[in-house]
Amino acid sequence: MASQEIETLASALARLPGLGPRSARRAVLWLVKKRESALPALLDALTEVQGRLVECHICGNVDTQDPCGICADPRRDAKQLCVVEDVADLWALDRAKLFTGRYHVLGGRLSALDGVRPEDLAIDTLLGRVEEGGVDEVVLAMNATLEGQTTAHYIAERLEDYPVRITQLAHGLPVGGELDYLDEGTLAQALRARRPLG
Ligand code: ZN
Repeated sequence: MASQEIETLASALARLPGLGPRSARRAVLWLVKKRESALPALLDALTEVQGRLVECHICGNVDTQDPCGICADPRRDAKQLCVVEDVADLWALDRAKLFTGRYHVLGGRLSALDGVRPEDLAIDTLLGRVEEGGVDEVVLAMNATLEGQTTAHYIAERLEDYPVRITQLAHGLPVGGELDYLDEGTLAQALRARRPLG
């Protein structure tokens, strides 16, 4: 039977995505063993991030600056805009290092089941960015799920009257696949082979 403090730490960790109670207990044990070496670095990193994380008002990315590092980077091609469901997808695509444009985070996907409507997502701000001009191509990088694809088609419809090319990630993405779980090679391939949405 662990102490109350250890139980509290384990249940806090168990709430992290991808960590169940069992992995959380393993993480706690690891931290206990490495308390001299790993714990201070982890604490520092958490404290640092807690005070500085902000959401980019342009694209919705999470960073320690607003505009985020990607929006603020003049080497990024403002003509290409890649639309993703979540920040995790943005990070996954950016790790693949093939896309040199900018991003737009929707903050989810349309879902009748979960009651997510267009106005719950950052679609108006996306249209606003396209309306401002300077965007040639919008890459819809939704997950290969039913809801992801419904969202992609909805956005393509809303963009119909704008003079932009609308493309989407090539299939070959596993059906039901979440971008975040794909390896960088697969993602890079899906981006390279992107095609007009039809
Ligand atoms: Zn940004």
